[in-house]
This record gives sequence, C-alpha cells and structure tokens, in this order.
Amino acid sequence: MNRVKGKTCIVTGAALGIGRACAERLAEEGGAVALFDLHDAEGEALAAALRAKGARARYWHVDVSNEARVKAAIDEAAAEFGGVHVLVNNAGISGSTKLTHEITEQEWDQVQAVNVKGVLFCAKHAIPHMKAAGGGSIINLSSIYGLVGAPDVPAYHASKGAVRLMSKTDALCYAADRIRVNSVHPGYIWTPMVEHHLQASGATDIAAARKAVGELHPLGHMGEVDDIAWGVVYLASDESKFVTGAELAIDGGYTAR
Ligand code: NAD
Repeated sequence: MNRVKGKTCIVTGAALGIGRACAERLAEEGGAVALFDLHDAEGEALAAALRAKGARARYWHVDVSNEARVKAAIDEAAAEFGGVHVLVNNAGISGSTKLTHEITEQEWDQVQAVNVKGVLFCAKHAIPHMKAAGGGSIINLSSIYGLVGAPDVPAYHASKGAVRLMSKTDALCYAADRIRVNSVHPGYIWTPMVEHHLQASGATDIAAARKAVGELHPLGHMGEVDDIAWGVVYLASDESKFVTGAELAIDGGYTAR
C-alpha cells in the first residue's frame, strides 16, 4: 500500500492487458491514475471501478500517435491531479507480421507511429511537468525482442529496440532533472495482443500454441499481467530511486541464455 502515494501516474494503453494491470496496481498503491487508451467503454469502466475503491482515476481517449491529443490530455491530467510524476509508456501494437521483403511502407510506419512516436510524444509532453515537480519516473514498455532477435515481425522488433535506446538516451539527458527513465522487457504475457498474434501467425489450436510459446521460457510458461505490473510499480516508486537507464527483463529467463 502507498508505494506511489501522492504521485500522478499516466498509463497509456490502460484499458486492456498489461496497461490495465499497471493502472490497477498503481491505484492500489495510492497513485492518482490517468488512463489513456482508444477502448472507451473498457477505459471508462476501469476508471469508475478504481474510483469506487477510493482511488483517484480518470480515463482520457488518447491516440498516442497524435501529438496534439497527447499534449492536451497530459496537461489536463496534470491540472486535475496536481502535476505528473510517473509515465508508463505501455500502449503498443504488434502490427504486420510480414517479413522485410514483403512489408509495405505504410505497414511499417503504422507500427513505428504507435510504438516509437507514441513513446516520444508522451515523454516529450510529460517531461516539462516532471521538471516542474522536481523529478519523475518514465517507464517504457519494450520487449524481450528489444534485447534479442527473432525471425519474425521485423517492424515490431525494430520498434522495441528503438524504445530500449530511447530510454537510455533520455535517462542520461534528464538525470540532472531527477527524471529516471527505464525500460521493461516482458517475455510472453497472456493478453489480447498475444492471442491476436498467435491467431495472425496461423495457429488454430490456441491453447496448444499458448503452451508451446510458454515452453520457450526457462520457467516453462507465459507470464501474467501482474508479473509486469509489479515491476512497473517498483520503477514508479521511490524504492528504485537509484535506478535509471536500466533494462528490467521480466521474462521467465527467456533472455538469460
Ligand atoms: P494489448 O493489445 O493487450 O493492450 C494494448 C493496449 O494499448 C490496448 O488497450 C490498446 O487499445 C492500447 N492501444 C493500442 N494502440 C494505441 C494507441 N495508438 N493509443 C492509445 N492506446 C493504444 O497489449 P499488451 O500485450 O498488454 O502489451 C502492452 C505493451 O507491452 C505493448 O507495448 C507491448 O508491445 C508490450 N509487450 C507485450 C508482451 C506480451 O507478451 N503481451 C511482450 C512484450 C512486450
């Protein structure tokens, strides 16, 4: 309880999956949570459920690839909750599964617009508020595929590699402002994104595909959304006050080989 009390926490992609768990755990730990997403019904319902439990929470419809909308929503969240202290750049898409010799420019750009420019825009417009607050924590969701290669979805992997080094660059650029920036690298976590990815990859028996993908991890199974959310809470809280520019792999040992 209260690990992020007094902090305004913006979570992008907060309606479903990992982002939803991050919003729930940050709210339980005393944070005021600003939920950004495109799924309005789920986002509004989550904000209402968090308020019913006594948290401060509000949902904003924000496409993170739209800079003007990002800026407006961050400024509104800062005004409503009193500054911005934590940004969880979680919104992301897996996008086209096409290989490099097949993918179109439009398909490539669609992934980079959300996964890379979305991270840029949210950080860009949160940082002035964090400077004004005397510091902050930015947590960028990369992937195991921001750390190691894999023979598929090149647009997604490129985007997650970019997020990893954007995190380190910003960690160095804003350390003097007491803004910490770290990346989180999940292994496979069972969410709508992964279910969609398995279907798009041609899997017909989803339960069997889920088990097979889980066995790629030394611990023998996929992770759960809270496995990531608790890492995010740690990086959001002052428990990690000496941690910046770090890569937190939460991956059942996938990248330890
Ligand atoms: P998900 O698809 O289940 O949920 C993503 C959320 O982001 C959805 O609510 C969606 O509406 C929202 N979103 C998508 N595009 C958006 C946009 N333009 N603006 C605002 N919101 C948008 O995904 P997830 O599995 O929970 O993944 C969350 C993050 O974790 C992503 O960045 C993903 O790349 C990363 N990740 C996931 C896994 C995994 O196995 N699930 C592994 C590694 C990294």
